[in-house]
Amino acid sequence: MRSVILAASRDNRVKRLIASAPITRSVVKRFIPGEAPDDAVAVTRQLVASGLQVSLDHLGEDTTDQQHAASAAKAYLSILERLATEGLTPAAEVSLKLSAVGQALPGDGERIALNHAHMICAAAERAGTTVTLDMEDHTTTDSTLRILHDLRKDFPETGAVLQAYLHRTEADCRALAHEGSRVRLCKGAYDEPESVAFPDKHEVDLSYARCLAVLMAGEGYPMIATHDPRLIAIAADLARAHDRKPDTYEYQMLYGIRPNEQRRLVGLGNTVRVYVPYGTDWYGYFMRRLAERPANVTFFLRSLATRS
Ligand SMILES: Cc1cc2nc3c(=O)[nH]c(=O)nc-3n(C[C@H](O)[C@H](O)[C@H](O)COP(=O)(O)OP(=O)(O)OC[C@H]3O[C@@H](n4cnc5c(N)ncnc54)[C@H](O)[C@@H]3O)c2cc1C
Repeated sequence: MRSVILAASRDNRVKRLIASAPITRSVVKRFIPGEAPDDAVAVTRQLVASGLQVSLDHLGEDTTDQQHAASAAKAYLSILERLATEGLTPAAEVSLKLSAVGQALPGDGERIALNHAHMICAAAERAGTTVTLDMEDHTTTDSTLRILHDLRKDFPETGAVLQAYLHRTEADCRALAHEGSRVRLCKGAYDEPESVAFPDKHEVDLSYARCLAVLMAGEGYPMIATHDPRLIAIAADLARAHDRKPDTYEYQMLYGIRPNEQRRLVGLGNTVRVYVPYGTDWYGYFMRRLAERPANVTFFLRSLATRS
């Protein structure tokens, strides 16, 4: 089921079908609060007022021309300025997919993405906040880590994302668990071959626990991005075992998923950051959320059936 949905997330015919179904919008709203920057700012304001922190993602990925890459970068510059004007930094930062700013362009895509990301990091610094580089499918991992390395020369606080489902990730955690290094650990959301990733969910969970142990024992700033109750409990145990103060790590969850748990963790004195996507290019993100949980697909299909 997961692979079928993830394959559909790259199929333009399915995209047209799903994106044009009127009911889709109301289901999408659970995960993506709005399309306009005003929506993003309004949700950020609400979340920050309730004690949560935010990472805003301007939706977009797999950019195929330079003009789109430049306009995606511009959207980040403008939302960062807006967040600063509204007094929402440093509580709100941004998450950036390098493929949105040109990484996949033929020829010198990596350089184009680095230049755009550098501009965005500079704008984040002016706004008093930070950037975290989302991680996409495994063919981009090395390029993304190279860009991270370059960005950190000028902006050491730039965050990395590592995906526990990849065999390589425990070693990547070791390499990045140094002082000042912000690392978001997630399970991974793409359809990956067995040659690079654990095919079994249980093995992914075990890998997550091992990677978390490396990050929590290290000198960096772990960002524990999961909704999984067992892994959240393990993170809390590790924090106690390593005598980590609450300001030396944070929990992260996606907008619309387990909001009560987000509030519970804040109530315990933790930093909790909510990943908030906004924009018109929501299809790929939405399909990954459906793929994560069969119940979401059932809910979506039932909504389609009852409205048609
Ligand atoms: C802040 C943040 C940033 C992320 N950034 C990236 C990234 O850069 N690259 C990347 O590949 N992946 C990213 N992800 C996605 C991640 O890889 C997982 O696909 C996703 O978080 C689901 O895994 P889980 O750890 O919550 O565990 P799961 O075992 O999938 O879920 C545990 C529980 O969480 C709830 N849950 C999880 N997903 C859903 C859902 N879609 N709908 C409803 N309930 C759900 C359910 O109660 C489920 O039982 C990010 C996740 C977070 C939280």
